Amino acid sequence: MTREELIEKMKEFEGTAVDFARIMNKSQSGIEEDIEHIRTSLRNNSEYLLMIKPATCLLCNYFFSNSKAKAPSKCPKCRGEKIQLPYFKIMRNKKFKN
Ligand SMILES: [Zn+2]
Repeated sequence: MTREELIEKMKEFEGTAVDFARIMNKSQSGIEEDIEHIRTSLRNNSEYLLMIKPATCLLCNYFFSNSKAKAPSKCPKCRGEKIQLPYFKIMRNKKFKN
């Protein structure tokens, strides 16, 4: 699969790295790496935005406001390891005009 195919899937569905790994038949870490690259390349693209619903701790509701593609394994607040993975989606920028 190519990164372009992943971008197309991310326009269709909102999902976690695990969801996209299943769809694309790739490892979770491979998808996380791809999402980081996509995030960087979309910074210079005014037509599409990468939306990230940040990871949260399922034990204390701590909100990982600076969520990266790769979810943290531990909560800095309660040290719990039940982390809800961040969700990703690529949206068309409503402000974009062509
Ligand atoms: Zn916590």
